[in-house]
Amino acid sequence: MSFSTPPLHAPLTQFATADGQLLVGGLPLTRLVERVGQTPFYAYDRTLLTARAQALRAALPPGLKIHYAIKANPMPALVCHMATLVDGLDVASAGELKVALDAGADPRQISFAGPGKRDAELCQAVAAGILVNIESFRELAVLAAASERLGLPARVAVRVNPDFELKASGMKMGGGPKQFGVDAEQVPALLAEIGRAGLAFEGFHLFAGSQNLRAEAIAEAQQKSFALALRLAEQAPAPVRLLNLGGGFGIPYFPGEQPLDLAPIGDNLAQLCAQAATALPEAELVIELGRYLVGEAGIYVCRVVDRKVSRGQTYLVTDGGLHHHLAASGNFGQVIRKNYPVAIGNRMDAAAAETLTVVGPLCTPLDVLADRMPLPAAEIGDLVVVFQSGAYGYTASPERFLGHPAAIEVLV
Ligand SMILES: *Cc1c(COP(=O)(O)O)cnc(C)c1O
Repeated sequence: MSFSTPPLHAPLTQFATADGQLLVGGLPLTRLVERVGQTPFYAYDRTLLTARAQALRAALPPGLKIHYAIKANPMPALVCHMATLVDGLDVASAGELKVALDAGADPRQISFAGPGKRDAELCQAVAAGILVNIESFRELAVLAAASERLGLPARVAVRVNPDFELKASGMKMGGGPKQFGVDAEQVPALLAEIGRAGLAFEGFHLFAGSQNLRAEAIAEAQQKSFALALRLAEQAPAPVRLLNLGGGFGIPYFPGEQPLDLAPIGDNLAQLCAQAATALPEAELVIELGRYLVGEAGIYVCRVVDRKVSRGQTYLVTDGGLHHHLAASGNFGQVIRKNYPVAIGNRMDAAAAETLTVVGPLCTPLDVLADRMPLPAAEIGDLVVVFQSGAYGYTASPERFLGHPAAIEVLV
């Protein structure tokens, strides 16, 4: 008989500890809780955000532009911080556009993608002078009318739904039938229409998918995106000035997952930048990342309010749950529920001593933060920390469900 050991979470190297406490922005967790004044809360560590952006830049070719996709975490203070670290911001709504502009980002470095942009949002985008990634013939018509009315040609790129998919991606957002972008085969007609309407054509946007941990798959998708953009550029009404090759860089959330190896992606992008220098001499290459930039710099903290045993299984019931952190509960796109990395933040030196299930206060069996996880013996009042929570946390959760208090977000 052979026993295989269960897979483990990738080691958490981001946050340090001291005297058994997790350190967040240099503060011991219990002190941070006092400073925040309540649990539950999200905390994002500035130093970690900066370090991640710098490490990413060091691994990628110097000419490549890095954009932050705000939807991963639109907290205004965090967006202000990110705006100083990246070359541009990508927004997915007029609400996010406001956050980006308020953060002081240069409108020339803001782009807007997403299906179903409302007429008013498209007008706001033209007035703001940002780049709009066109995703339908209707959007083009609305932009043309807005340009005429404002006397300002809309800056546009075409978001292409490619004729391939991103392999091994957590969420596919290109290839086959999709609500995103315009199918590659319809793009020539759209380009002709952009030319007739006299809009300021700037380039292409291709986004194949999200949460990918396989460097070769990402590199392959970027090569194919580049090749497709080269073909489409032949029919463009103006030289390509911007080529957004998407992103999809994943972070390890679940047992058995390993951090993404940036080296092959950097090599591949360096080759593409070199090719672009001759094939698309006016073009800047851009990648847009959300979770890779911010996901590992954030934690969610809640407090144990009850401890109970049911038929041999010990439960820690906390004041936090899926109403603040849907993704950690396993209900934000996961097919099979797996545990996020979870710790007892005021007992970081204690060895795992019990198998505990951590749940929230909601009246639904879906409200689970950790299912049968080896953890240190924990008591009422202890602090449960959910790692990898800097992206798709608070704003991706049904906060009003059951009417519990809101969480707070702090940048430390
Ligand atoms: C959501 C999204 C992103 C960010 O995805 P991550 O997985 O967080 O990196 C980037 N670009 C577009 C177009 C998106 O919709």
